[in-house]
Amino acid sequence: MPDGARVPVRPVRGQLLRLRDPSGPGLLRSVVRFEGGYLVPRADGGYVLGATVEERGFDVQPQVGGIYELLRDAHELVPGVSELKIDELCVGLRPGTPDNAPAIGRGLPEGLVWATGHHRNGILLAPLTAELVVRLLGGEQPADALLDACAPQRFSPARAGAQPGRAGARQAALS
Ligand SMILES: Cc1cc2nc3c(=O)[nH]c(=O)nc-3n(C[C@H](O)[C@H](O)[C@H](O)COP(=O)(O)OP(=O)(O)OC[C@H]3O[C@@H](n4cnc5c(N)ncnc54)[C@H](O)[C@@H]3O)c2cc1C
Repeated sequence: MPDGARVPVRPVRGQLLRLRDPSGPGLLRSVVRFEGGYLVPRADGGYVLGATVEERGFDVQPQVGGIYELLRDAHELVPGVSELKIDELCVGLRPGTPDNAPAIGRGLPEGLVWATGHHRNGILLAPLTAELVVRLLGGEQPADALLDACAPQRFSPARAGAQPGRAGARQAALS
């Protein structure tokens, strides 16, 4: 790829636990959110306790510290958590850009379309991202504030220096 044409994406590790109540559903009826995590009840008595956000490079080995903090905080809010069984511990890497906002748009070489850097919201933003990418692949030049805010070129040294105040505009477009 040409110099400066890459989008700088780093791995942001996330750990979560899949838990199960052997006596069935009922401990929680709705999602509990807390600083640094969430506890999601499933209809079958399963629970998802997630997720850490850790800057640990490409290390995908499960690690005690993050899981301890999730369990500690969830237990403080929902003491019944300590009776749940552990089904699974999942570790994944989120793609993060320097400003943690996605990079969606045309790049170099010609014909390349970026759709990366969705950090914590890649599932949530999949339909919107797909719609924007389809329009780009179809040859459209959509005038869209969101696409503008997600321009992959914002990380190229020349453009970043020439556009003060873009971070604020990006936050507004993405919020
Ligand atoms: C624990 C955790 C919880 C999350 N929870 C949520 C949530 O609740 N809601 C939400 O919206 N998002 C959530 N996310 C974030 C979401 O998973 C990501 O934003 C999303 O997966 C990013 O999609 P992607 O396709 O860009 O990258 P990825 O899903 O990482 O896909 C990249 C793919 O490329 C493959 N690949 C890499 N290198 C190569 C190569 N050289 N050749 C071929 N293939 C390659 C990889 O194997 C991978 O399959 C969570 C992430 C984690 C880790």
